[in-house]
Amino acid sequence: MANRERTTLGVVHVTATPPGWDKGAAGIRAIHKAQGWSDIGYNEIINPDGRAEMGRGKMAIGAHVAGFNSISYGLSMVGGVDAKNRPAFNTIKDAQLETLEKRMRDLTIDFPEIKWCGHRDLSPDKNGNGVIEPFEHMKACPTFDVIPWAAERGLPVADIKGTWKPIVLEPESDRVYDGPDTRTAYLQRLLTRGGYVLGPIDGIAGKKTRTAVKAFQFASGLDQTGDFDAPTVARLRSIFETKAAA
Ligand SMILES: [Zn+2]
Repeated sequence: MANRERTTLGVVHVTATPPGWDKGAAGIRAIHKAQGWSDIGYNEIINPDGRAEMGRGKMAIGAHVAGFNSISYGLSMVGGVDAKNRPAFNTIKDAQLETLEKRMRDLTIDFPEIKWCGHRDLSPDKNGNGVIEPFEHMKACPTFDVIPWAAERGLPVADIKGTWKPIVLEPESDRVYDGPDTRTAYLQRLLTRGGYVLGPIDGIAGKKTRTAVKAFQFASGLDQTGDFDAPTVARLRSIFETKAAA
């Protein structure tokens, strides 16, 4: 497997495995291989008990962030989603965050050019094609803002601005992270995931989007209002909200 020539970026992830999942790098490797990859995507993982474990290897080019694998180190904490597969920072253990900080410090010494960020800071849909690619599945990854977190601890951080922000899709629901985004863009993405064609994901509920919403409502036996109304949002989320890892 190919090795990196430079390591200028450190990318923090979560595995998006459910609460209680604790099968180590071998288990993540099995999941990733089942998805058709050659090996575990991450260079290293941090288990729920705080134990760091090599994944693909220290110098290997991983498969953890579209477009940046050849220059980056992927460090992933096991967890990150709740029992409903929703992004949940509180699933990450304190022991994992302690190890994360320590490993980031060590790796910053090993790779003097490295700068840290979170997966979601590297906006995976920045080409705006609206296609949900495998690496985009867990768009909240790693469920917290790594750049300010790392900067507070004196670690070098990447000079990028995450365009991600929390959005509320339904009253009283948990917030979802997606971006560069609005509620409408998120819902457009869910429609796209369902195979509805609506043009670019632009956050604007224009004619194509309204037509797609109506088609979805018709297929779902809902009133064809063309709006992202409450029953439509609830149904969209229940069917198309992602549950895969990244
Ligand atoms: Zn990730």
